[in-house]
Amino acid sequence: MAASRITPTIDFEKNGKQTGFLKYPYSVHESAYGYLPIPIVCIKNGSGPTVLLSSGNHGDEYEGQVTLMKLIRELKPEQVQGRIIFLPAANYPAAMAGRRTSPLDMGNLNRSFPGDADGTPTRVIAHYIDTELLTRCQYAFDLHSGGSSLMYVPSAMATLVPGETERNAKVLELLNAFGAPMSYLSTQPMGADQTLGASAARRGAIALGTEMGGSGTVTPACLRVCEAGVRRVLKHLGVVPDMKVEPSKGTRLMQVGGADYYVYTPENGGVFEPLVELGDEVKAGQLAAAIHFSHTPWREPEIVKFEHDGIVLCKRIPGRTERGDCLFHLGSDYKP
Ligand SMILES: [Zn+2]
Repeated sequence: MAASRITPTIDFEKNGKQTGFLKYPYSVHESAYGYLPIPIVCIKNGSGPTVLLSSGNHGDEYEGQVTLMKLIRELKPEQVQGRIIFLPAANYPAAMAGRRTSPLDMGNLNRSFPGDADGTPTRVIAHYIDTELLTRCQYAFDLHSGGSSLMYVPSAMATLVPGETERNAKVLELLNAFGAPMSYLSTQPMGADQTLGASAARRGAIALGTEMGGSGTVTPACLRVCEAGVRRVLKHLGVVPDMKVEPSKGTRLMQVGGADYYVYTPENGGVFEPLVELGDEVKAGQLAAAIHFSHTPWREPEIVKFEHDGIVLCKRIPGRTERGDCLFHLGSDYKP
């Protein structure tokens, strides 16, 4: 596989706290010899595992970005046992634009792994993360939220790999240490093998994700869950042994199964009337939403129903909706 054309301004093997950029040569009309400066921070001290903390994989998900920016400023090298690599604006062009996807190539970083050294900008970034960062890590925590179009019950999430008993036990241990009110396990996560988490697993690292709220904004409640969770896992792993944080109260472990956990808009040109709220417990057959048609307002709304029992973990935010939009997804209590 080709080597990355991205070069870091920091040395991952050096002790101490280094801040700098991943320089991605990007020659365009406005800047012939220019580069994209993707911010990166490395804090290394003593011996211990390497943890990658990333956010801004989707640029319109802010809870993780705020959490990591605060932690970067706060942590001193002497607090760290091992190494923490921070990539707070992973898809930098998307993060600067406040968009899920990159304005340069419309690329969705979390559907671009393992990436391509000679691909479009988003695929080049994915390739760098896969070949240069994940290969250095034992743990990778990629902080997401619902972004502009979704709102989540603040949750940590992970994927279990069938047959990998030891690895799966560690994943469950970390979800419990993170201590979000709810955590969910997915066997077929959105993006499947194209996500940062999937690449981390292929590289032998333990991967954890979050879905911390969303709606294209930050709320104090979601931020508290995100900040406390990240601090608790760093403490739990012994990477920041003296981290000040409340102990975990555990988590309600959920699972997100197949297509029947998701509810979609059935027709074009509608206004979404949700008939349940986030966190509600619902039954299969229960009414989920009414889709009203502005172009024929006398028409009866189209009624959408849940196809599975569960808790409403995720809800669509924009009122306008088209066929194919996800309106809700459910989780149900985890049964191993
Ligand atoms: Zn995301």
